[in-house]
This record gives sequence, C-alpha cells and structure tokens, in this order.
Amino acid sequence: MDTARLSGFIGGLWDDEIVPQLVEYIRIPNKSPMFDAKWAEHGYMDQAVALLERWAHGKLASLQGATLEVVRLPGRTPLIYIDVPATLPGCDDTVVLYGHLDKQPEMTGWAEGLGPWTPVIKGDKLYGRGGADDGYAMFGSLSALLALAEQKVQHARCVIMIEACEESGSYDLPHYVDHLAARIGSPSLVVCLDSGCGNYDQLWLTTSLRGMTGGELTVQVLEEGVHSGDASGVVPSSFRVLREILSRLEDPATGTIKPEELYVEIPPQRIEQARRSTEVLGEAVYDKFPFVDGMQPVTKDLVELVLNRTWRPQLAVTGVGGMPALESAGNVLRPFTAVKLSLRVPPTLNGAKAGKFLKELLEKDPPYGAKVTFKLEKDGSGWNAPQLSAWLERAVAEASEHYFGAPAAYMGEGGSIPFMGMLGEKFPQAQFLITGVLGPHSNAHGPNEFLHIPTGKKVSMVVAEVIARHGEQAKKG
Ligand SMILES: [Zn+2]
Repeated sequence: MDTARLSGFIGGLWDDEIVPQLVEYIRIPNKSPMFDAKWAEHGYMDQAVALLERWAHGKLASLQGATLEVVRLPGRTPLIYIDVPATLPGCDDTVVLYGHLDKQPEMTGWAEGLGPWTPVIKGDKLYGRGGADDGYAMFGSLSALLALAEQKVQHARCVIMIEACEESGSYDLPHYVDHLAARIGSPSLVVCLDSGCGNYDQLWLTTSLRGMTGGELTVQVLEEGVHSGDASGVVPSSFRVLREILSRLEDPATGTIKPEELYVEIPPQRIEQARRSTEVLGEAVYDKFPFVDGMQPVTKDLVELVLNRTWRPQLAVTGVGGMPALESAGNVLRPFTAVKLSLRVPPTLNGAKAGKFLKELLEKDPPYGAKVTFKLEKDGSGWNAPQLSAWLERAVAEASEHYFGAPAAYMGEGGSIPFMGMLGEKFPQAQFLITGVLGPHSNAHGPNEFLHIPTGKKVSMVVAEVIARHGEQAKKG
C-alpha cells in the first residue's frame, strides 16, 4: 500500500466532498429522539438519513458489489446499513464500522456567529452540532474503503452501520442487531469513530468507556404552589428534600459518589495507562475545559483526575423542572422540584444493576413522606477493551506514525457508547479500534462544537491502513 497516495486520496475526498456534505448535514436539526419526541413527524432524521444515503450511494459503484439499505423497523429510528464485500479471495471474515447520525440538543452559550445548526468553517475547524459527534463517521469509514479500492488493496468484508438513536442510549440498536444478525455475521474487528482524543497530534485509542444510568428524579410536597411567606418553616421545601436525597448518592463537598455498590476495582494496567497518558497530556487533562477565571479542578493530582473521569462513578445534573425561569420567579413555595440525573458508572459495572440500585437508593424512606419518584431512563453498561492482538497493536503504532508522525497513545474515555458494550458481550473474540476526533475544546454536547478537519482526515487514513492490515492477517490465519 502506498501511504502517500492514500493520504492524497483521502485528503482530497474530504476537501472536495466530505466537508461540503458535513456543512449541509450540520444545518439539519435532527436531534436524538430523547430530545425531540416528535422526531418522526418533524422529518429531520429522514433528511439527515437522505443526505448520507445520497452521498454513499454515489460511491457504491467504486466498491464492487457493495449495497446500501436504510433499514426501518416500525416505530424505531432508521439505520443505514452498507455491506462492502471482501476483495480478499476466500475470506469470510467481517469488519464492522459503527457510527451514529442523531444529534445532541442545541445547548446555550454558542459564541457570536456560531450556532448548533449554523455550519461555520474557521481555519481547520468546522463548527456546528453533530459534525464531530458523529456525522463524519460514515464519510470517514467510506473514504477509507474507497482509498483501499483505489489502490486495489485487498480487505475482508466490511459492514458499515450508522444508527440514529445513540444520543438517547441506543435503545433501538439491539433490535436492529437482532434483525440483521445473520447479515452482520461475526466480526473479528470493530471500528468505532465516535470517541475522543487527548490531543490532535497523535492517534488515541480508547481503552474503556463508562456506562451510564440516569433519569428524572421528582420530589413533590404540595398539590399546588403557595405563598412562601406563609408556608416556609411549615412546609418542607421540595428543593431541600431533593438536595438531601441527592446527598445519599453524592458527597456535596467533594463530588465523590458514596455507595460502594457503584464502584469496581480498577485493573492495574488501566492505572498504568492513566499514569502514562498524564505524562503526554500534562495539565491539558483539566485545562482543556473552559474554566472561569480562578476556578480549580476537583484535584490537581492528574492521575486521580484521569481515573475519576474514566473509571469512577460521577454525577451530573443536566436539567431541572418545577422551577420557573429567573425572570418569572415569585415568592412561592413550589409544589415540586425535578431534576434530570446523568450518572456515569465504571466500565465494567453492570448498567442494569446500577440503574436498579439507583432507583431504590433515591426512592427509599422519603423525608417527611414527600412523594419521591425516580423515572429510570437509561442503564447502559460501559466497556473495557479486550487485550489488543499483536497485529492490531503493530498496525495502530505504524498507522499513527504514518499519518500523524507521532506514536499512538492509549486512554480510557469518560463518555459512553452503548453499542460497544453490546458488541463486546456478543462478540468476545472481536478486536476493537475505537478512536475519534473529540479532542480538546471540540465540545461535543456543549456549545461551540467543532470537527477538527485534519484529524478527521488522519483518522480516516488510519482506518484504511488498519483494515488493510486486518486483511493481511485474515489471509495468513
Ligand atoms: Zn457520539
């Protein structure tokens, strides 16, 4: 394989076609179903699917025998399924390449001139919601396969699956995996481009992902709101009761999650990798975040910060109900307070058990007999990478040198990709190449999300090389 020719081909395809496609894609407000209950009626998801489908369809002629189908199970978000036959004679091995096209909601705080549905290119960056998370995945995966075809480099069968429910916890995906099981086969390599990178200077392999559980916690104390001057001191405030209940879960002074049931023993190899990643990243471990002046991280111990972020449970309160906006807040003792909880859990903790535990913890013994309900919305398990095969470790090391000019690095991620846990369980033999473009300041889920275009290109090149090496391996074995 000619790596210079591969770089040229993929770089050119990104500049000429992929970036302009992503610009159009960013304009579509196809929020994940959890953030747009009427997604089907609104039609944005279909628009996004059509955009990706149109581009991919135009490329199939260059991939002999390739097929594309938009699979639609009744009442579920659609899934794009692309099957590219092996070019390696007699090879019955499969590579699965995964991505998602649904998006996070808008979020506030976008800088002037930027916005979630307003694509803006500034230097190397394409701003807007969903370009980096994870709209580029299908384009990057296909560009890799097209680059191999262009050089007639042989590879195993490749299946690209792009779902539309990831940001809601991928609850539709298991149905598609069951529905398509016979067609998917048994992959020996899974490629996922929905993850993060510690910097934009080298290839970052994700070694673990946290699971996530959470939902809506509601504390109701009154049938209707009353004058706070009349009721305070008599009626317990729903906010205070909620605070007390949350303190069962989280130490308000330190942010430490209290129940032992939500922890696992961290494997020594992962502690060692955390330590090494801090040597590469230094203070970027925390100063990649847009802290206000004077604000400090939870601790200055870098290894502890990495482990907190990747292997320990942590809580975020992501939304609130029962409170009027500040400008219309009167002196009322409100009837209820509700919050949306997002609890990240360690990679190897059983998500379903964690969800059940959380519900019991929050609902038991309500203070003052308040009406406390926790509506569990998700309980996905995380993922811990299996031991890397020697061929993949070598392929990754060389690909990082070829396209980034720097050695590959390994790091756990604090986020969650539910599908990886599902696949890891279903295909314990599979190897995983999980990487991504969500690096410093790229801010997926927040305001000012951007796709670092050079990294998108390089990651696509790495995928091409790794798939080629997987083919060589399949030939040998
Ligand atoms: Zn994502």
